[in-house]
Amino acid sequence: MILENITMPDFQKGLTKTRTIIVPFGSVEEHGSHLPLGTDTIHVYELAKEAAGLHPVFVAPPVWYGLCRSTCQHPGTVTLQGLTVRSLAMEICTALYSHGLRNFVLISGHAGGTHMASLVDAGEKVLDSLPRSQVAVLSVLDLTALPPFSGLIECKGDSHAGEVETSLMLHLRPKDVKGTSHEEYPSFPGKILVRDKRRYWPNGVWGDPSKASPEKGKAIIEREAVALVEMIKQLESLDEVESI
Ligand SMILES: [Zn+2]
Repeated sequence: MILENITMPDFQKGLTKTRTIIVPFGSVEEHGSHLPLGTDTIHVYELAKEAAGLHPVFVAPPVWYGLCRSTCQHPGTVTLQGLTVRSLAMEICTALYSHGLRNFVLISGHAGGTHMASLVDAGEKVLDSLPRSQVAVLSVLDLTALPPFSGLIECKGDSHAGEVETSLMLHLRPKDVKGTSHEEYPSFPGKILVRDKRRYWPNGVWGDPSKASPEKGKAIIEREAVALVEMIKQLESLDEVESI
């Protein structure tokens, strides 16, 4: 049940089948010179819809913007503050809770550490303020780190605009992939924060796009959806009061 497409009666009927909703979070962020700025959001929303085809859940419209710390100076990236991300997540969950949703899956296509910390913080606040809520917070990288992906992804440490995301876009939006970018890994000086972020990560790729293929993209999103559904079932099994 894709929230943006259903009517009010559809929504009410849906609540008799599930109290679970996936809330996808993305970003407007550089993805090398070859992938669209919306890659994270496109990926996570398609993944959520794929999962909804396997298991009855609601899917909320995606939040297009996120907190992009290391790429905020790359052309086209639009970043939010952590407090804004946290407020957005909390207010969306609070509104959905008032309509009967209880299990919230906050999944992000953008896996930046400070962005994810803001979502975790929001999830904890939701648990505190909404007594019958249950919350999972994860990024797509948490899924591809699971055993079903070993052997599928060749590039070790692939993270951003590399093998995985290029494969996904070749599968999901082939017309929006503009050639490729060179293999690259950022060289930030450990825990030292830097003003000039592009100096340490000039081209905005973390991984090797040359290993990408549309077939891999199809396999990745299908396996991600299965892994996501497993996690949703685990979340729902914890709920002994409200689940249906
Ligand atoms: Zn990305």
